[in-house]
Amino acid sequence: MSRFLSPRFAGLEAYTPGEQPQDQQYVKLNTNESPYPPSPEVLERISAAETGRLNLYPDPTGRVLKEKLAALYGVEPENVFLSNGSDDILNFSFMAFCDAERGAAFPEISYGFYPVYADLYHVPCIQMPLKEDFSVDYRDYCGIGKMVVIANPNAPTGMEISISEIEEILRSNPQNVVLIDEAYVDFGGTSCVELTKQYDNLLVVQTFSKSRSLAGARLGFAIADKGLIADLEKIKYSTNPYNINRLTLAAGEAAIESDAYYRKNAAKIAKTRELTASRLRKLGFIVLPSVANFIFVKSDALAGETVYQELKKKGVLVRHFGKQKIKDFVRITIGTPEQMDILLEKLAEILKGQKGA
Ligand code: PMP
Repeated sequence: MSRFLSPRFAGLEAYTPGEQPQDQQYVKLNTNESPYPPSPEVLERISAAETGRLNLYPDPTGRVLKEKLAALYGVEPENVFLSNGSDDILNFSFMAFCDAERGAAFPEISYGFYPVYADLYHVPCIQMPLKEDFSVDYRDYCGIGKMVVIANPNAPTGMEISISEIEEILRSNPQNVVLIDEAYVDFGGTSCVELTKQYDNLLVVQTFSKSRSLAGARLGFAIADKGLIADLEKIKYSTNPYNINRLTLAAGEAAIESDAYYRKNAAKIAKTRELTASRLRKLGFIVLPSVANFIFVKSDALAGETVYQELKKKGVLVRHFGKQKIKDFVRITIGTPEQMDILLEKLAEILKGQKGA
């Protein structure tokens, strides 16, 4: 820290992203990316023609992409907001919809960025414990009178709450924004996008980083009543109107056109998830019931930290979180069936080594 940083940020603890090793080839199952490449249409669209126009600014309104998303999700373009990854939308939401009086509430075990944004904007926040079975108790958020932020499915558990439970939260907090983070919804979850037509306080956030294989392009979007979208646009135009670059816009448009390709991949990933979960259970792991592209698992024989370290030594990266309540678990991204075979083979070796020790 230099002597120039405002004292406002002296205590700020920044988010720690998952490892992105640049030195060694790992079987990379630690940051919930898709194991499948972008569609051939995407690769074609980010062509020499588009790169040849990089001397020009992109369309700050993202009109074409908004129209395509609106058509796909059955809403109007004014109900769509685009951003540089969905992290940007989370950032804007804490900035726009919270303050010292209007705090935020979210689950204690969830996406680790939520408390960082709360801290960044000095927003008082309540972090609600999960139930014993690691599910979110929607009743904790009913009538709470704060911005509610729920990842659905939740991360890192992969478990979801129902649409009727979300509706209860919306109905009981008419003066506050309810942000439902659907980063992982396409792998078997249920989206609440339809409810945005009924509730002007609902902000649904999604991303191209997971099911649409574009984590490296940084593209996120939100769907909501046009009032909330206008608020987000105001913040965007007060910070960085060109926050989505030309290549990413082109990639996003082509990705929506190849929706069938991504749906097929998501279905493949869901199938691989179920198979992997049952194989892990046979090895003695507890696997939470996930509808996402990752599973949260706990060994009956090894500490979470040990599983993470030993797998890393064997060239497989998974994610371990130090938080006390989940320290026994590791989060494993679902890769290709071949990657899962390697994971299971290495885990079996580790367990065998443990027994022999
Ligand atoms: N929400 C959740 C729950 C996530 O896990 C992530 C990915 N780390 C994000 C949002 C942000 O994703 P991106 O910025 O890549 O869209």
